[in-house]
Amino acid sequence: MSRKGGHFVKIMEVCGTHTMAIAKYGLRNYFKGVDFISGPGCPVCVTPSSRLEQCVELARKKNVITVTFGDLLRVPAVTSSLQNELTRGADVKVIYSVYEPLNIALSNPKKEVVFLGAGFETTAPLAAALIKSAKQKKIKNLSVFSMFKSVFPAVETLCKDKEIKVDGFLLPGNVAAITGSDNFNFISDKYAVACVVAGFLKDEITDAANALIALVKNKKTEVINKYSYAVSSKGNTAAKILLNEVFFLKNDIWRGFGVIENSGFGISDKYASFDADKKFSLKKIAEPKDKCLCGQIMKGLKSPADCKLFGKKCFPQNPVGPCMVSSEGVCAAHFKYR
Ligand code: SF4
Repeated sequence: MSRKGGHFVKIMEVCGTHTMAIAKYGLRNYFKGVDFISGPGCPVCVTPSSRLEQCVELARKKNVITVTFGDLLRVPAVTSSLQNELTRGADVKVIYSVYEPLNIALSNPKKEVVFLGAGFETTAPLAAALIKSAKQKKIKNLSVFSMFKSVFPAVETLCKDKEIKVDGFLLPGNVAAITGSDNFNFISDKYAVACVVAGFLKDEITDAANALIALVKNKKTEVINKYSYAVSSKGNTAAKILLNEVFFLKNDIWRGFGVIENSGFGISDKYASFDADKKFSLKKIAEPKDKCLCGQIMKGLKSPADCKLFGKKCFPQNPVGPCMVSSEGVCAAHFKYR
């Protein structure tokens, strides 16, 4: 039952870190007959251009310091990027810990400090802890621009899409460590697709991929946890309580997917004064037409090789789309390890 390209099994790695590791360790060549396709698990890549443009708008404001992790810096928005704004004199700071914004806010009492945050269930609890801590310390000049998303509704969107049809999902161990592996059971229960929760070392990914291939070959649809030293069935209770206290789930736009119901982490009313969307009246722009194929690549419909710009007009020093910038981006992975 060989398919197009001689592949027997189509596996989607949901997580961008897995995408990078699979490319780095040459696992596409190791697993002959397996079509590894990338999923929506790179948070910077799924952030739509309209939200990135609001980051640029915030960076351009007087008396505002925007702080972010490095991945977001070079991602093209609509009219500019944070990197360009930094070059033009905007106060954009790259942070390495989610608590740094607290100190930056305390050291700059006359300025507004905005943490531009993108991520999934893995990093959203850290932003929640930051917000809670800012409230406890009565810091008034700090807010969070939340681009945090929940990966589950995106995976469910893929499960419902008849065009994509994957045989199995290699699931992100880091998300499962927070939510618990049970949260992924709906994929096998409702959509009859095999799943394996995977760690991030070469042997862990290889082991998880072998287990997933075996499930598919034996027509078994269940969720196996191959990252059990870090992931329990119920996850991290403290992190989940924090998430639920500070955030609520709202409909949100994903690059390539459009609006997905209950997929974005909005800041709850209790912490509204730390919500940059409420603190600043930002322009709402329509999502522009994408020049690149990132959206389709993250839905598993295309690969970087399908993009005419790949390696020609689009390369890491001159990224056209987010997938070429992010350290978890599929185009960056293919470029680096081609
Ligand atoms: Fe987008 Fe560049 Fe990837 Fe093409 S190669 S899909 S333009 S990021």
